[in-house]
Amino acid sequence: MILRDILSPFYVWKRAFEKPYSINTLSEARPGSPRYRGFHQNDIDKCIGCGTCAEICQNATIDMVPVKETTDGDSGLRPRVDYGRCCWCALCVDICPTGSLTMSNAYSWVEEGLDLDVRETYCYIPGYDPKPWDAEELGYRKPEGFELLALERIPMPHLSSGERKNSFVEMVKGYSRELAIGEADRCIQCGICTATCPAHMNIPGYIKAIREDNIAEGLKILYETNPLPGVCGRVCTRRCEDVCALSHRGDAISIRWLKRYLSDCVEAAKYRGIMRQEIIPRDKSVAIIGAGPGGLSAAYYLALQGYKVEVFEQKPAAGGMLRYGIPEYRLPYDKLDKDIDYIVSLGVKLHLNTCIGKDITFDEIYRRFDSVFISTGLFEPYRIGIQGDDHPRVVTGLKLLSDVTEGVPVSLGQKVVVVGGGNVAMDAARTALRLGSEVTVLYRRREVDMPADREEIEEAHEENVRFIFQGIPVELLELPDERLQMAYARAEMVDQGDGKRPQPIPIEGSREILEADTVIAAIGQGMNFLWMEGEARANIKFGKWNIEADRWGQTTDNKVFIGGDMFNRTADAITAIADGHRSARAIDKLLSDNK
Ligand SMILES: Cc1cc2nc3c(=O)[nH]c(=O)nc-3n(C[C@H](O)[C@H](O)[C@H](O)COP(=O)(O)OP(=O)(O)OC[C@H]3O[C@@H](n4cnc5c(N)ncnc54)[C@H](O)[C@@H]3O)c2cc1C
Ligand code: SF4
Ligand code: SF4
Repeated sequence: MILRDILSPFYVWKRAFEKPYSINTLSEARPGSPRYRGFHQNDIDKCIGCGTCAEICQNATIDMVPVKETTDGDSGLRPRVDYGRCCWCALCVDICPTGSLTMSNAYSWVEEGLDLDVRETYCYIPGYDPKPWDAEELGYRKPEGFELLALERIPMPHLSSGERKNSFVEMVKGYSRELAIGEADRCIQCGICTATCPAHMNIPGYIKAIREDNIAEGLKILYETNPLPGVCGRVCTRRCEDVCALSHRGDAISIRWLKRYLSDCVEAAKYRGIMRQEIIPRDKSVAIIGAGPGGLSAAYYLALQGYKVEVFEQKPAAGGMLRYGIPEYRLPYDKLDKDIDYIVSLGVKLHLNTCIGKDITFDEIYRRFDSVFISTGLFEPYRIGIQGDDHPRVVTGLKLLSDVTEGVPVSLGQKVVVVGGGNVAMDAARTALRLGSEVTVLYRRREVDMPADREEIEEAHEENVRFIFQGIPVELLELPDERLQMAYARAEMVDQGDGKRPQPIPIEGSREILEADTVIAAIGQGMNFLWMEGEARANIKFGKWNIEADRWGQTTDNKVFIGGDMFNRTADAITAIADGHRSARAIDKLLSDNK
């Protein structure tokens, strides 16, 4: 035995009377440094549940769990963090597209009690499961100017306003391969956009295909839910972009232009080889009334299921409002025809110049076919509703646009006044401008209230369309030289309370005058069912404005379905396409069950 063995215990005992070195964390606070990466915080309302944090975490620390109702642009999921796994690298905070996820500088936390499940305690949903550091202001935030995400959209090449003013040439040129891959590369693949797309297109799927330069795969994904990708890639109302995760901090992904890129990349002759769709013929037949996007979409999916599909269309060409409404500078006919030709190539029989109710009765169609899908759209333009609006120099936006499509000579004169603020008004105004007129748009509300697409309004401004806002048409008078005088009242916007839309109310004595060679009415359109007479109509129930139908578009006569503008309130191409697809599935079920 050596001397140290004898003395050591005394040294240890001496320490027993010293102040302890460790800190009692429960009673003695010891804050972390200001930017310490402590436990997570999440602004639960700002978070959209995109799951990018879970995706980037290298330790599988985060899983996404449901805590909210799903709404547009919000998955309803929120990140749950498992502190048994977290290494506090803060990648999740740096990547978060909304900036909702941060870290407090709290790092110490003791739970008391013996019966606690340790995993449940140290695995919680920041911002949802209350924690003492929820309101902590110190901690880690994404540093200013530091970005893991590419927030700026790759600009789309397009014609200048000077070049496009007198031309119907397509104004948007489309992405090259390099630009498309660059834009696709910005997508974080969260899928938030998919729920908002009426057709629920697999957007992250086709964007990934672009990034991997796998065009064939991308095209197949497009056609799963949308047989008019060349059309939608140009004119879709793109509600998906409104909710894109990146739009919270930067520019939304150009989802529409990427779709266009994919469909433009593939020549029509190669579609068949890429799609390789096997069709097993069936002995049942379906009639489709109206060759707009609703009818064409139903035709495509029913033809794929092997049904004999015949489409009846009163106009000389298919496409509905896509052809007879949307002008060529936005949607060239050859691009529309490319989409339509592929649908027809699957065996769909197209009867053009065939108006139901005139050339064939609805009864005959009803009797000849096992099921009928109707998508006849809104083609009855409303009148302005003022004295003098029946003058021959008052035309409707729809008539002007359809005449231009059909090559009917149009003479509008030098000065044109367009009444309205929606997309039809913008298309009519910009068409009149391209035909050489000076154009003024008269709209009863403010610019922010215009229902037209923002991009179209901006482009109209660039092209020198003049706007008069808060102007309510009062009467139309004819001048001796056959020109027109549009009298309008200035309006003030009066708040209606209860979150209702403010109403434009004419200001007394505020009458003003606009002179015009032609007035174009573009204030909306409705439908009529005069063509639907006879016995077959008996089973079909009509509501106040429309035919009654369930969510599949099935009417009270179970073999008749409706879709498109005459069914939904959205009145855009992609919703009509989604309606056609939805009813095609329901018709398939009906005809399969009735075998
Ligand atoms: C000027 C204008 C611009 C637009 N811009 C856009 C845009 O940028 N983006 C967008 O997404 N949407 C746009 N829309 C809306 C879009 O075109 C419609 O929502 C869509 O076309 C509706 O499709 P649908 O199948 O319901 O009917 P429609 O496209 O209206 O097609 C109905 C078809 O039925 C035919 N038909 C009607 N009655 C009969 C009958 N008795 N017998 C035989 N055939 C008949 C019609 O001739 C027509 O071809 C625009 C519409 C207009 C008018
Ligand atoms: S801090 Fe790092 S390890 Fe922890 S959850 Fe975030 S990404 Fe995962
Ligand atoms: S397009 Fe936007 S919302 Fe859609 S997957 Fe990509 S980043 Fe997410």
